[in-house]
Amino acid sequence: MADKFYITTPLYYVNASPHIGHSYTNIIVDSIARFKRLKGLEVFFLTGTDEHGLKVKQASEANNLNPKEFVDRLVPQFKALWEKLNISYDDFIRTTEDRHKETVRKILGILYEKGDIYLGDYRGFYCTPCETFWTNMQLKEKICPECKRPLEEISEKNYFFKLSKYQGWLIEYISENPKFIQPSFRTNEVLAFLKEPLGDLCISRPISRLTWGIPLPFSDDHVTYVWFDALINYASGAGFLTDTARFSKLWPADIHMIGKDILRPHCVYWPIMLKALEVDMPRMVFAHGWWLEGGEKMSKSRGNIIDPVYMIDKYGADAYRYFLLREVSLGSDGVFSEHKLKTRINSDLANDLGNLLNRTLGMVELYFGSRLPYPDKYSDYDATLKEHAITIWKGYDALMEDLKLNEAIAHIWELINFANKYIEESKPWILAKQKDKRLNTVIYNLVEVLRIAGISIWPFMPVTAESIFGQLGLEKKFRFSDLKEWGLSKPGVSVNKGNPIFPRIE
Ligand SMILES: [Zn+2]
Repeated sequence: MADKFYITTPLYYVNASPHIGHSYTNIIVDSIARFKRLKGLEVFFLTGTDEHGLKVKQASEANNLNPKEFVDRLVPQFKALWEKLNISYDDFIRTTEDRHKETVRKILGILYEKGDIYLGDYRGFYCTPCETFWTNMQLKEKICPECKRPLEEISEKNYFFKLSKYQGWLIEYISENPKFIQPSFRTNEVLAFLKEPLGDLCISRPISRLTWGIPLPFSDDHVTYVWFDALINYASGAGFLTDTARFSKLWPADIHMIGKDILRPHCVYWPIMLKALEVDMPRMVFAHGWWLEGGEKMSKSRGNIIDPVYMIDKYGADAYRYFLLREVSLGSDGVFSEHKLKTRINSDLANDLGNLLNRTLGMVELYFGSRLPYPDKYSDYDATLKEHAITIWKGYDALMEDLKLNEAIAHIWELINFANKYIEESKPWILAKQKDKRLNTVIYNLVEVLRIAGISIWPFMPVTAESIFGQLGLEKKFRFSDLKEWGLSKPGVSVNKGNPIFPRIE
């Protein structure tokens, strides 16, 4: 039986439409999931939406809808974006679904029975117009940070989860498992945070303030806090406490891919929740960077959001995917601009990859009536190209396993650029004039390079890879093992030269 690979995105909070940051996480996870499928693993890729909490309630009121109607209208926007981007998720979980709520309530019950959840006093400052609770730590003065109105000091009864009890264990676990939090500088960030005493986590909200949440099984007066609810999706989506056989097959998750802004819930709350439940830790939490515009994080309040739908409609899903994956290393921040996107499309996609395909198929058409020739003798130079092509899987595999997606792409582009140089130096148009049989070898080699490039780029640009395979007359099946073999293109097969896959953009 194939090994399983379980990868997740965070659940996106549905108080507004999806933005570039959401699309980035899903493109990363989709590429990793496709790569693992290419290698024959049984992949479970989970994404979804986080739908409870005060901000959703407030946004729904601003739209004159009840919260459920409001989220029911937004969720299709997320699903439509994933379809546009060819995101191959296996399951989409919503925190308002019964399967999720059932697991959350069971977990709350277990932790309460165990004594890890207790009732305590929650003190802070309340802004009535905003319906927002602020703790001492968040405030410089007794003024609401959002609306600048004076705050009311209140104390209320809430339930707390004993984070503090597990602080020593967590520090030891993170220190002993340096691969757990990636990139590694994030490990240090979390350990630095854990040097201070960890307060217990308030995990409830009184229904007098908020009803839009999952009711606590042991209190009629409270719903659970949104982070506690949302994190559990990684377990509920895999069948925890509802489908034991499925959960034991899928768990632990192999990668939780997250944005760097949600490190604390994922690297402190979530591991402690699992430890308290006596469940194994996920293998890795990877925090990717942000896309910035003009050096600032894109956010709705700054009004500098780039609409992914606009970019995809204008430039295509694969070009957009390629840009985000190629432009920066995973974990670093990137600067998004339409100009940079166009430059990448023209240089890497139209010029390097698109031209290689177009020129090669143009020559099969012109010199061989669109039928792939048998290769003839190999010169040393022909053999060098072949050797390069059938060994790229090694570096590609190592870089992908290390999640160095941008370097893996660059590694494939070395082959593509070598093949373009090979055309220039082999001068097939002269070989054709001289009726030199080496022409057959040169053309066959170029087709094989395109086959290998097509397989390798499939995780990043699935539609392009399929289009290349279609033009090469290959069956659209992508297998990692086919990267190691030379000669899988069948001489005599008809190629179907199409329109350029990436026309130049002026
Ligand atoms: Zn306020």
